[in-house]
Amino acid sequence: MDRYSRQTRFAGIGSEGQKKLLASRVLIVGCGALGSSLADTLARAGVGYLRLVDRDFVDLSNLQRQVLYDEADVAARLPKAIAAADKLKRINSTIAIEPHVADVDPSNVLGFADGVDLILDGLDNFETRFLLNDVALERSIPYIYAGVVGSFAQMMTVIPGQTACLRCLIDGVPEPGTTATCDTAGVIAPAIQVITALQSTVALQLLTGQPELVRPRLTIVDVWEGTFREMDLTSLKERGGCPTCSGGRRDFLHGEAASKSLVLCGRNSVQVAPSEKRRLDLNDLEQRLKPLGAVSANPFLVRFQPTGEDLEVTIFRDGRAIIQGTEDLIAAKALYTRYLGN
Ligand SMILES: [Zn+2]
Repeated sequence: MDRYSRQTRFAGIGSEGQKKLLASRVLIVGCGALGSSLADTLARAGVGYLRLVDRDFVDLSNLQRQVLYDEADVAARLPKAIAAADKLKRINSTIAIEPHVADVDPSNVLGFADGVDLILDGLDNFETRFLLNDVALERSIPYIYAGVVGSFAQMMTVIPGQTACLRCLIDGVPEPGTTATCDTAGVIAPAIQVITALQSTVALQLLTGQPELVRPRLTIVDVWEGTFREMDLTSLKERGGCPTCSGGRRDFLHGEAASKSLVLCGRNSVQVAPSEKRRLDLNDLEQRLKPLGAVSANPFLVRFQPTGEDLEVTIFRDGRAIIQGTEDLIAAKALYTRYLGN
């Protein structure tokens, strides 16, 4: 217990709280800036089991704010979930870490949420956030939402049956192009650090069995302006009428399949996902692509630069591809079909 002595000495946690943390299981969805900061804090705090899910690989432009990664991860082009797990094991070898290189969608999200005590949001899109909100209510698992853009960050905690949910606050997925993104407005690291500090604190309170400490509010911070605001969400919950937590609908979990192509945040990239889950033979794929351009591979992905095109394609074992150098969804899908089939 020496490792956690400063934490157990803190009256709010103590040795009983530490035992609860060591027995806790947490799902972190997204291992970008938010997710890597959350995972770093919770691994050091001794949360006994962390399940990490991320669909992306480490890129040079991530290092400005994504604290678990370094230049060696960029050079090896490791998937974020794998690079994060490797780093976390060196930080705390006594806890269990389960990485998944995957895109969370309605077909796999219940499996990822299976057996966890808490869901943490390290995402960059509202579609998946509403999916997690649905799962939280469906399975009665607390969920902590956070979002960051520019110098601005916000967070709220959803405790099913007690607090307002994300859909009480925001009616639906914002139309593309109507909200600022990290691509259009940039993002600075302190905005992430302040909001993940609040998320991690609530996580410690919930995992040590103290939900009464969590106030039902939306916290809004602008680190550049130096402002900190809170919106009480009690009346929002009492008003009722939310399709998800009052109406019992799970539109994102059971609704029409999520869109298959997405423009990623901040990288001039498009993800194309196959209509059905696959298990690609990466060695075979590498051989097939070699005559068509520059190919390199690691155990998790194949990287391909088609001859004569100013594009780079990264293909994962589950059949997803991230195409860098375009934001044109139709062109990206055409490219996917050309090299990988339907
Ligand atoms: Zn609600």
